[in-house]
Amino acid sequence: MNIELIKGDITKISADAIVNAANSSLLGGGGVDGAIHRAGGKQILEECIQIRNRQGKCNTGEAVATSAGNLPAKYVIHTVGPVWNGEEDKSSKLLEDCYRNSLQLAESLGIKTIAFPNISTGIYQFPKELAGKIAVETVKNFQAETIEKVIFVCFDDDNEKIYKKLLD
Ligand code: ADP
Repeated sequence: MNIELIKGDITKISADAIVNAANSSLLGGGGVDGAIHRAGGKQILEECIQIRNRQGKCNTGEAVATSAGNLPAKYVIHTVGPVWNGEEDKSSKLLEDCYRNSLQLAESLGIKTIAFPNISTGIYQFPKELAGKIAVETVKNFQAETIEKVIFVCFDDDNEKIYKKLLD
């Protein structure tokens, strides 16, 4: 698996799938979630509502997929990151679940390229260094069959620096 780092806006990335740092309601929010729904259009929200009607809320650490509406990607994988509350072990495991479950879901869809934002490091306030370490380790440890490329999309300067160091 190839691992790439891009600084920028994940809604512009034409990977097979982009990952959304959603909240458990799946009904949209701020940050990257808001950007994805704004740029992708109402198709994504309609599919999120269908998923909710079927299974209820999405639990922290889990992932669900929708199409990508007007975005250049084919799918959006929505995963719910942990809100940082200082419980390092518990939150780290949940963040790892986000990356692993998103990769697993991507494999079940036959996806070759997938782009991740820095899940939980915005509104959810997960420490960026620790989050980056978990993201990179989980991706590196994943036994991929269909996925050929993983792109880490860093939006802010702090995360870009952290990922540059981690991937060097
Ligand atoms: P969370 O609630 O999981 O913390 P946020 O969306 O608040 O989610 O932040 C997650 C990360 O997404 C942050 O590092 C933030 O800088 C980044 N981000 C915000 N907008 C975008 C975007 N358009 N593309 C990529 N990353 C983004």
